[in-house]
Amino acid sequence: MDLSQKIEVAAFALADPYRVVVDLPQVAFRLPDKIGEQSRGLVKAFRYGLIMQGGSRIVLDTSGPVKVEKAFVLDAEAGEPARLVVDLAATDRASFMRTLTLENKPDRLASAKPPEPPAKADNDTRPLIVLDPGHGGIDQGARAQSGELEKDVVLKFAQILRSRLEKTGKYRIAMTRTDDTFIALSERVKFSRSNGAALFISIHADSLPKGEGQAEGATVYTLSENASDAEAARLAEAENKADAIAGVDLTIEPDDVASILFDLAQRETKTYSMKFARTAVGELKSTARLHKQPLKSAGFKVLTAPDVPSVLIELGYMSTKDDLKLMVSDVWQNKTAGALAQAIDTFFGPRLARGQAGAN
Ligand SMILES: [Zn+2]
Repeated sequence: MDLSQKIEVAAFALADPYRVVVDLPQVAFRLPDKIGEQSRGLVKAFRYGLIMQGGSRIVLDTSGPVKVEKAFVLDAEAGEPARLVVDLAATDRASFMRTLTLENKPDRLASAKPPEPPAKADNDTRPLIVLDPGHGGIDQGARAQSGELEKDVVLKFAQILRSRLEKTGKYRIAMTRTDDTFIALSERVKFSRSNGAALFISIHADSLPKGEGQAEGATVYTLSENASDAEAARLAEAENKADAIAGVDLTIEPDDVASILFDLAQRETKTYSMKFARTAVGELKSTARLHKQPLKSAGFKVLTAPDVPSVLIELGYMSTKDDLKLMVSDVWQNKTAGALAQAIDTFFGPRLARGQAGAN
């Protein structure tokens, strides 16, 4: 890859799935469209983009275990630009795993954190709603035939929903990302828990793989161990890949959820999540178009906070022309945000009424 100037790079491998991560300072990529989709040699595919402010990343999916033999930048010379060189060689799993444990992986493997939520006054009892626009940075999510990216569509929608909710004055609103930064799934969950969110809404847009027919409309998902149907299972698997796509090492994630302790809280949280999901579907019915089966469940990682009611909304299908047209239109975005704001009012209604009674 040619570079406009010499930069520092760091390359290392990750397992399961086999990947090579190349970290760079923040750069502006100017590469031909779809260049990373072609399989060549040991590299099945690659993607690139922002991983955090000040840092860019290239992630190569490899066809098997590989060794990073060299990763360096050649000086610009004799009219030739500076050039990033990464040499990979096939290896076997045993020696691959051995190198992994020996390697001193840079801290950059950690994900960026969501921005701080707005400061809270001591007497502010308003519930905190966390809006979670999916994907970001190097993880672009679904891509429409015409080039629109899920990460952009859902960020725009989340921002509209946020200002709508802020205007009511009834809630505090925080977002897991407010720009094109990649945030790991676990960071999103951690953020909503540590800030004591009363509701977590993850916002996505689905896409069907080519040749797998057409589908349309919005779907609201809750967490379940067993997916409600095969399509929900397919979707959860795709959405759960975000961390792997961005080159985050899942094996170093601390497993801090002692499941038994949370069992009770979890059951109550589940009830509330379902309640909100049903209310949301009821409201969306009159404004957005809904999927023929608009209420589903599957094992989404981003919905696993045991103590925060959480839903994931797929606004529609990036792969369906009519859905995409709606999702990028101001009218539809505002109508749909309005419907969700109504659902949120209904969900918190009793609680807000109680709060007011208490204040009198
Ligand atoms: Zn998504």
